[in-house]
Amino acid sequence: MRLLITRPMPQAVVDRAKTAFDTEVRGVNTPLDKDEMHRALADFDVVIPTLGDVFDADTFGAVANPRCRLLANFGVGYNHIDVDAAYAAGIQVSNTPGAVTDATADIGMTLILMSARRAGEGERLLRAGNWHGWHPTQLLGLHITGKTVGIVGMGRIGQAVARRCHFGFDMTVRYVSRTPKTLTFPAERAGDLADLAASVDVLVVCVPAGPETHHLIDANVFTAMRPTAHLINIARGDVVEEAALIGALQTGQIAGAGLDVYEFEPDVPAALRMMQQVTLLPHLGTNALEVRTAMGHMALDNVAAFEAGQDLPNHV
Ligand code: NAP
Repeated sequence: MRLLITRPMPQAVVDRAKTAFDTEVRGVNTPLDKDEMHRALADFDVVIPTLGDVFDADTFGAVANPRCRLLANFGVGYNHIDVDAAYAAGIQVSNTPGAVTDATADIGMTLILMSARRAGEGERLLRAGNWHGWHPTQLLGLHITGKTVGIVGMGRIGQAVARRCHFGFDMTVRYVSRTPKTLTFPAERAGDLADLAASVDVLVVCVPAGPETHHLIDANVFTAMRPTAHLINIARGDVVEEAALIGALQTGQIAGAGLDVYEFEPDVPAALRMMQQVTLLPHLGTNALEVRTAMGHMALDNVAAFEAGQDLPNHV
């Protein structure tokens, strides 16, 4: 069985793949271009793609009778794959849920704390040689303990963030999701997103990207938010309308933002990069070796199940 892995991966993942399958590992970290995507579908039985490899309807349409039968995505988010078009072409899709949950929630907490406590701004001040000593009114931020967090999308990552906020920071938890949840910590489901936005000190975006959630966080949400509140996005960039976010920050409609993902990633608008009240991380949600290794093994578990003719453990 011929397997293509579209990026360099942790060594343990590459070793397992090469032992089990006829494996080609692409040697560069850029997304596949169109020709490479066509070759992936035409010449391999299984592909392990990832973020940035845009398998849209045109791509599937361009390869008649593809050899490929499975896209075993490396990552829980699969909005770069048109799943309906894949299935229509006879290609299954799987992802890597769970492996990413705690690491991504930890980056959420990092951004909550950095944004609220102006950590990036403070570090830039010090590195620029402009710190002239402690004083009582320097860089005053928002105290997080005991405040209210709003979770947009109470799934695996949303719950992991909420648990950390409740048990670690004594925060009140409110949320929106499509269905009510049975949770292991106290949390109130808000009537709607505007209600949630108006009632919290920190709003954390944890929904998957897709047509339903594109620009879910728009100017109306920023209008509803408190001027002391912070927006955190650890999900996907286009869930937040970036132009509206820039406007809300520039006019002081909200106090700050902590972002791990961007609408036109990896392009990050200069307007965001210029503002001190914005914390910008380069999509670090899962950036730990053991997490990336676990994601790779989960993708390979799906490949192995596919080869054995079994149900995929992480079918999407
Ligand atoms: P998940 O368990 O499927 O949770 C998603 C939650 O969003 C579900 O609770 C779902 O509600 C809710 N939801 C979906 N559409 C909604 C809508 N229109 N309005 C309100 N809530 C909605 O997924 P997950 O594992 O937590 O991952 C979430 C996303 O995080 C991924 O899709 C990925 O894009 C992103 N992510 C980012 C990083 C990073 O590096 N920054 C890392 C990992 C994942 P129901 O349960 O009611 O359906």
